[in-house]
Amino acid sequence: MKDTKNILNGLADYIHMLNKKWWLDLETGKPLNRNVGEMLMLTVSELSEAMEGHRKVLMDDKLPHRFMLEVELADALIRIFDMGAGLGLDLGGALVEKLEYNKTREDHQTAARLAAGGKKY
Ligand SMILES: [Mg+2]
Repeated sequence: MKDTKNILNGLADYIHMLNKKWWLDLETGKPLNRNVGEMLMLTVSELSEAMEGHRKVLMDDKLPHRFMLEVELADALIRIFDMGAGLGLDLGGALVEKLEYNKTREDHQTAARLAAGGKKY
């Protein structure tokens, strides 16, 4: 799992390098103090586009050989990984730990999900 953490953080660093221009002031070229709430909502907008693509079974307009659903999910991942690296987060480590934690969650087990008040989806 340490490899997974390092691969994911490496991917985040690579995506952040490709998107570094969005972290600089357009006019001065100086580093911006990015608004975290804005970055989170930009990720939500990608997910909204994914939902619309799925709802209408649309192909993507920029990569027309691919479903809009998969391209917009990729956009959401790009924003998330860019944010992770840009904010200096250990996104890879958190993801690996959360996957392990989720395996042990009582409320994710079938019996708990079937019980009254259980998570149906
Ligand atoms: Mg998009």
